[in-house]
Amino acid sequence: GRASPPLAALSQVLRLERSRRTAIVFPLQKLERYLAPGTDTARFRLFQPGLAALQRAEALFRSDRGHPIDYVSSAVRMDHAPPPALPEVCFIGRSNVGKSSLIRALFSLAPEVEVRVSKTPGHTKKMNFFKVGKYFTLVDMPGYGYRAPQDFVEMVEAYLQERHNLKRTFLLVDGVVGLQKTDHIAVEMLEEFGIPYVMVLTKIDRASRGLLLKNVLEIQEFVKENTQGCFPQLFLVSSVEFSGVHLLRCFVAHVTGNLPTVEAC
Ligand code: GDP
Repeated sequence: GRASPPLAALSQVLRLERSRRTAIVFPLQKLERYLAPGTDTARFRLFQPGLAALQRAEALFRSDRGHPIDYVSSAVRMDHAPPPALPEVCFIGRSNVGKSSLIRALFSLAPEVEVRVSKTPGHTKKMNFFKVGKYFTLVDMPGYGYRAPQDFVEMVEAYLQERHNLKRTFLLVDGVVGLQKTDHIAVEMLEEFGIPYVMVLTKIDRASRGLLLKNVLEIQEFVKENTQGCFPQLFLVSSVEFSGVHLLRCFVAHVTGNLPTVEAC
């Protein structure tokens, strides 16, 4: 196949021609012009930062000596979790949804960060904590499946309910297959706990434009009709092409309180 361009940094994206640049930075906006006339697109543009905000967010995800980004620890129980000292975000989703790939893409400007995968069946599933300087922590929650063991469910529930520094939960949904039964279970849990979350559609490079549009509109409608805690704008990402990754970095920076002003683009 075609080698994907190295677009991990905004400076690289800015060299692209305008329409390609929009597709990488604002993949949802890119779909807008294929919608039927009159479709309400307010939910496509709620979070639409300008270049300055995107750049400030990127700086947070770029490690250096004075700003280390590190894997901190793993935990199977809440009493093993690091102290809740910083604002935190967590990423959850079905196994294989593309969670490790996305976290790797987010941290691609901090190559020393090792995003571990534990795919071996029977291997204990853990919560992995990453510390981004003195600014926030990011938690990679174990992937859930339809046969998730009870202790796993309890761990995730305990985390979501007890973690007071948790600012936002990112629920990853496969952009090709759309919402599945297990995703609905996750949504019900988040709604029941009343914690704020965001839906992230993954692997968008694999979906045709028509399929992606269909999934986006369906999920958007679902969010509108059935949820209270879900941010109305969907985030679309491809960890292969880097689309949506810069915008997601910016949203993480924003919800963790590290980007107090986000001027619109
Ligand atoms: P996890 O189980 O949720 O951590 O999923 P992984 O990140 O390991 O990804 C599962 C599979 O999907 C792997 O084969 C990845 O290479 C593939 N994958 C993940 N993200 C993307 C993406 O954005 N685009 C494409 N085409 N494949 C992806």
